[in-house]
Amino acid sequence: MNYRSTRSNETVTAEEALLKGLAADGGLYVPEQLPDPFLDADVLKAMSYEELAAFVLHHFLTDITLKDLSKLTHDAYTGTFDTSEIVPVKTLSESFSMAEMFHGRTCAFKDLALSLFPHLLVYAKKKLGDGKETLILTATSGDTGKAALEGFKDVPGVHIMVFYPSHGVSPLQKDQMQKQLGENVKVLGIEGNFDDAQSALKNIFVSDLRDEALEKGVLFSSANSINIGRLLPQVVYYVWIWLSLLRSGSIGSRESFNVVVPTGNFGNILAAWIAKKIGTPIGQMICASNENKVLADFFETGEYNINREFHLTESPSMDILISSNFERFLYYMTGSSDEVLKDMTELRENGVYRVPEEERKKVSGEMIGGWADSDTMRKAISDVYEKYDYLMDPHTAVAYAVYDNLRRSGKVTRHTHTVIISTAHPYKFPGAVSEALGIAAEENPYDTLRSIKKYTGIPIPSQLGELENRKKRFTDVINPENIKESIQEVVDEIVK
Ligand SMILES: *Cc1c(COP(=O)(O)O)cnc(C)c1O
Repeated sequence: MNYRSTRSNETVTAEEALLKGLAADGGLYVPEQLPDPFLDADVLKAMSYEELAAFVLHHFLTDITLKDLSKLTHDAYTGTFDTSEIVPVKTLSESFSMAEMFHGRTCAFKDLALSLFPHLLVYAKKKLGDGKETLILTATSGDTGKAALEGFKDVPGVHIMVFYPSHGVSPLQKDQMQKQLGENVKVLGIEGNFDDAQSALKNIFVSDLRDEALEKGVLFSSANSINIGRLLPQVVYYVWIWLSLLRSGSIGSRESFNVVVPTGNFGNILAAWIAKKIGTPIGQMICASNENKVLADFFETGEYNINREFHLTESPSMDILISSNFERFLYYMTGSSDEVLKDMTELRENGVYRVPEEERKKVSGEMIGGWADSDTMRKAISDVYEKYDYLMDPHTAVAYAVYDNLRRSGKVTRHTHTVIISTAHPYKFPGAVSEALGIAAEENPYDTLRSIKKYTGIPIPSQLGELENRKKRFTDVINPENIKESIQEVVDEIVK
């Protein structure tokens, strides 16, 4: 299977798409054609997570043998998660379950893809006989950065730079990145938000610097969800969720289930959409936003408009106005790269584009949107804790609040089981969680964690606890204008 750009007819192999990250025309790579449904629950139910991952990915990465993929997924998911289930699905009531995606090395759902992606990238490099050094450029709204750093740390032939919004992440997220180990890593804070960092990096991918670096033997790639190496492994866990619900009897063999996805860059929910296309019986797909509700507005009006106030919230990984992967969805909805190019040019120039009513209706047939503000989010954390003895992180709580609201207004079908995608461990966000539970926050976030632990009895994951006494290595903060220069310096360092 080949991959094509959303903005032109540029077509590449899967390996090339993995290595390049972004198409030369600035578009995103998508499978030229999505595979026809191929999932048979009776066969798949007995598989482990890594077996299922190899099986599903084989339909998208057809140039890689199933045997090779099995080795890659084995290496990715062995010893990197604190449960052999990888994504445990906890059914809390007849109506809903939580799919816990925070059992990996960095306690966020990004680990699911970023445990595998480095293995895919190294494999593609070998296969293409690419003797170049790879420099992974990553913008993060909080969680991708750390997960990418852990995935690529000390991988030979690969270097990684991460840019995070210096005022936009939780203290734990900041510690995770500033205290990162490894010889091939560099982390920089930026004065700006995620959109600034992501846009600056996308520009680098179509700049002279990219060509100059390539001449010197350094290939830029991306660990953001613009890379298919991020997107495809995420499809797997939706199939896994389905099989888990069947195994536990939470749904019957002919039943479908809804998903609610806390959304930022639109990668996670796009993976759900693809999972549905290949045969996962997903009913309603609900895209949940926080106060940065560009997507919720789009689903209602057909207008994608980023000319608005940007909110720093307590669900920082969703503080995004330009959701990159939406471009892929738009491509599938319109079936036309000309249309996508026109919309993306308008977005860049005017900060807004609008789709015709007919198209908006088509989109609404695929997904519904909703949003929740911070007060509602905190109330959701305390309500669910009271009622189900279950502690959610702020992102998951936004998703739950949106679900609860839509359910009350009758927009979510009551008889269909719903899965809330739980994207982060609550202890990554001690400030919001302690406030929601009515526990005093301490100056030291680790003290706050200890207070929450005392109250709830939930142990502190070692991935987070061990950070407290580690030394900070990366404390520099730069202006977004200087991103290019900082990359130039790292390129020079690599080729020295
Ligand atoms: C990245 C992230 C999101 C948003 O996911 P997208 O794929 O960018 O839409 C939501 N919650 C958490 C905790 C995240 O880390």
